[in-house]
This record gives sequence, structure tokens and C-alpha cells, in this order.
Amino acid sequence: MPPAQSILLTLAGLGALYVGIQIVLPHLWKKGQIRKLRDEVRGKLILTYDDGPWDGLTPELLGLLQKRGARASFFMLGEKVEAAPELARSVAEAGHEVGSHSYSHHHPWKSAPWTRLQDLARGHSTLSAAGLEPAGHRPPYGKLCADSAFWLGRAGQGIRWWTHDSGDSGGPLDVAACLRSVREAGGAVVLMHDGYAPGERHAYVLEVTAALLDLADEQGWDVGGFELLGG
Ligand SMILES: [Zn+2]
Repeated sequence: MPPAQSILLTLAGLGALYVGIQIVLPHLWKKGQIRKLRDEVRGKLILTYDDGPWDGLTPELLGLLQKRGARASFFMLGEKVEAAPELARSVAEAGHEVGSHSYSHHHPWKSAPWTRLQDLARGHSTLSAAGLEPAGHRPPYGKLCADSAFWLGRAGQGIRWWTHDSGDSGGPLDVAACLRSVREAGGAVVLMHDGYAPGERHAYVLEVTAALLDLADEQGWDVGGFELLGG
């Protein structure tokens, strides 16, 4: 084999090995974790909100949750916490669980290792600097790489997946469809976002939250953040 061809083949092999270890294995592991989560969450409703805190929606959402006596998990972006530390603290003071969602939402699969690890570490340190100890991490875009999983394991941070996407970030804004799927599953960890400007997505988050709480009441489910699963 000519030397140039042999070098190309070696590089292709190393590239495939890198993708296999960094992306494919964590992705398969995630699928198993979500299957397990679907069993663990039966009889429970875990409400989760990513990408905040944001003045335009978070206070309104906190008001709704307080009115309904419900707790939730908020996975915050470091850059948003830096911009509104008082608001971030008010979420924890209202009794909700606060976790990290990285500093500026880099896509883990599309970032260089040093970029995604720095984004991860800076997200956690920003929350700590604001007086919030992050209880778990929600990977941006729900994507994880092996090096991030290793970093999180060393930091003692659990990875918080979800079983149901409310559709607020791009799916159809269909409250009935979301409720039907959660009811059929007998419980859920629902993904929502509290970073929307006033408009239909903003209104949908409030509407679907209220409807999910009605469903949990009707079914007699426990409602809360990830603390319902014992941390
Ligand atoms: Zn996000």
C-alpha cells in the first residue's frame, strides 16, 4: 500500500475511534438511562425548565408554581445567571432545585473538547459564585460526550435527562398531545424552557405547566423536581 494511502487509512480509523468513544457510546448509554428513568418516574411528574433564568418569563412561572404549591428543577445557563443573579437566587429561595445547563449552551458534539469542557466548568462555577450549588447537569441539546460525562462524574454531578419533550422549543405547541403522551406513560420528566420572550411559546410554557399540574392532581401523582427521585 502506498504510504499516503496508509496514512489516510490510519487517520480515518483514528477518527472513527474518536467518534465511537466520544459520541456513540455516550449516546447508547443515554438511551439506557432514559429507559430506566421512564420506570423510575411512574406515578410522578417532574417539571424541568432550561435556558433561564430570564426576567420575561421566570418570575411569572415562579408565581404559577407557587400558586399551585409545586416545585420544579431549573437548569440554568451561566451567562443568564451572571446577568440576573438575584433572579437566579429567587428560584432557589422559592424551594426549587437549581442545576447547571453549561455557561453559553455550546453544542457538545459540535464543539472542540476544550470548548465544551470550559463551557461546562464555567457554567458550574458561575452558579457557585452566585451562591447556588448546582444539583445536577442538563446537557445542552441533550447531547453528551465521553469527556463531559467524565468531568461531571468527577464533579459529583448527576446527568438529568428527560422522558418527554413539551415541544416548546420547536415541536408543535400542542397541550393535548403533550398531556396524552404523559398520561399514557403514567408519569414523566418533562422538558420545558423559561427563556422565551412574550409570544406564543412563552404562553405555551405557562399553559402546558398548568395543564400538567391538573393532570398530576387528577392522577394523584407526586410533583416536584429531581429530588423526587432521591437526587
Ligand atoms: Zn437548552
